[in-house]
Amino acid sequence: MLDMADVMDASTDNCKAQATGALDAVPAADAKRGGLYVISGPSGVGKGTLVSKLMELRDDVALSVSATTRSPRPGEVDGKNYFFLTKEKFKDLIDADGFIEWAEYAGNFYGTPLDFVEEQLSAGTNVILEIEVQGAFQVKEKLPDATLIFIEPPSMDELERRIIGRGTESEDVIESRMRTARVEMERKMEYDIAVMNDDVDSAVARLSECIV
Ligand code: 5GP
Repeated sequence: MLDMADVMDASTDNCKAQATGALDAVPAADAKRGGLYVISGPSGVGKGTLVSKLMELRDDVALSVSATTRSPRPGEVDGKNYFFLTKEKFKDLIDADGFIEWAEYAGNFYGTPLDFVEEQLSAGTNVILEIEVQGAFQVKEKLPDATLIFIEPPSMDELERRIIGRGTESEDVIESRMRTARVEMERKMEYDIAVMNDDVDSAVARLSECIV
């Protein structure tokens, strides 16, 4: 697990999405290692619900907890939903090669802590990353054996209804997330697998079949 206490102050200037070199030494194909599964899809598509149901179903899978600079939503717990960091601390972790990947999304930074993923994969456990599109392709570039799974909404209208229904975002944020969603949908074909979240239980079942 990341030692957040070791994080030092630093500036956040010129942050851009990029992969770190931290996993370069890891062999891509090793039968003893767990499999890495990257789940993406537009904000509001229901990735979080699908992933938490999947975690109830499968005890051979570990979920990576990301770091983010966005504020916690009501009910979100630090260390469980995310590690909620300041931009300064996030930048320090980038500088310390603490992330497998990181990206800027809707004005906030998100990143996958390296240590947990590496520990689980080495122990033979499958790992799920629930991350946005830029980060997913960074992971694939670094670890070509990773399986990229795209969760798609039944329609863009339905996606907007779900984001509005969540009731946690301002109108500006909803608009920004819908703009980002349209860009993300254009990259669906580059994923290894697409799963439509029309009905939660059947989508979870299809997702579970992808994790072998
Ligand atoms: P939210 O703010 O709604 O929790 O997440 C916004 C987006 O950031 C979602 O698409 C989510 O999958 C993505 N995300 C969460 N953690 C990470 C991460 O560690 N890296 C990247 N690249 N994206 C992430």
